[in-house]
Amino acid sequence: QFAYVASHDLQEPLRMVGSYLGLLERRFDDKLDKDAKDFIFYAVDGAKRMQVLINDLLSYSRVSTRGKPFEIVNCKQLVEGVLKNLEIAIKESGTEITTEGLPEEIVVDSTQISQLLQNLISNAIKFCKNRVPKIELKVEDKLPDWQFSIKDNGIGIEQEYYERIFIIFQRLHGKTDYPGTGMGLAICKKIALRHEGDIWVESEPGQGSTFYFTVPKRGGF
Ligand code: ADP
Repeated sequence: QFAYVASHDLQEPLRMVGSYLGLLERRFDDKLDKDAKDFIFYAVDGAKRMQVLINDLLSYSRVSTRGKPFEIVNCKQLVEGVLKNLEIAIKESGTEITTEGLPEEIVVDSTQISQLLQNLISNAIKFCKNRVPKIELKVEDKLPDWQFSIKDNGIGIEQEYYERIFIIFQRLHGKTDYPGTGMGLAICKKIALRHEGDIWVESEPGQGSTFYFTVPKRGGF
């Protein structure tokens, strides 16, 4: 019900705002002074941002409604797929990534765990100022779970924010410093919890962060 409201009822008035502002701009172009054009620009920008936020809320709600059954997947192949998706970001930033201990088989919703890993790795690349990102992806057997860790050499996070960053739309920086809406980690947490696992962070500000998440071993895998 929420997803339906978000994708129809909330988007329709927003489209109307956007399209009438566009019409105003085109139809009255010669009558509008610079201030009026600036105001329209900010109004359109607001409508666009609202659209992005609604789509983020939709993705968040779909973690539970569009989840697929857990199945045996090859963790190495899953990670290869994630790195392929991030190929451009990795190349452009010169990121070095190492992997260790990836198990042959894990039992997960592979689309969701790929999304979780992709969010964490792209954050590790993004929140890394003035240095080449170095990322270590490790999986450890911590019975009864598999424990994943993604260690970066980025800007780090103060301990007082360790919990807050997993709440929807919570960000520690302005849009101009780092792009984003603050939804990525909330989605990661929802995915980890759907798998009956957990997610947390440890960090040394200025040195880097390590994000951990667990997924229980199921049926011996
Ligand atoms: P977004 O990336 O859209 O800002 P996220 O939910 O992915 O949203 O992250 C929330 C906040 O947590 C980020 O804005 C940032 O302040 C902090 N953060 C996330 N990952 C890292 C990281 N690897 N290093 C430092 N800070 C991070």
